[in-house]
Amino acid sequence: MTIDSTSGSYSFDDIYENKLDDCYRFYDDFAGLLARALSYVSYDDADRILESAFFVPYYGDSWHISPSLIQRRSFIIIDAKDLEDADDAIVTILHEAGHAYLQHGTCSKVSTELMRQQEDECWALVRRWLPDSFGGTIDHAERLGSGSQGNQQ
Ligand SMILES: [Zn+2]
Repeated sequence: MTIDSTSGSYSFDDIYENKLDDCYRFYDDFAGLLARALSYVSYDDADRILESAFFVPYYGDSWHISPSLIQRRSFIIIDAKDLEDADDAIVTILHEAGHAYLQHGTCSKVSTELMRQQEDECWALVRRWLPDSFGGTIDHAERLGSGSQGNQQ
């Protein structure tokens, strides 16, 4: 694998095979969506996202995640309803990844004004990361006031 870190992106296979923690395989479909989402961003940004965030899809399972796995990363929960459509999933994953990438605080602790500012900043980053073909999906998600099909954050 040769890498020019100033341009281009990892391939899906590079991310899926070489970049994701083994535990992501527990939810193979989700690992595939995560690899797809990260294949849109630059090498450096994909590495930074994986270093700053750990993603868990919420399909209703109960499970334990060890502290050694988290290692001070943001813990991102993606609702199963946001994973039903692949484009929605990619937008949601990258929106929540954007909060970790931008080192935003947890929403309950910030003012409404700052939360709005952080949302705008995050959506701008998602628009920079994804090609124009995602514009409609991003517009829709942003109109819902969320990175997800539901409410909050
Ligand atoms: Zn958000």
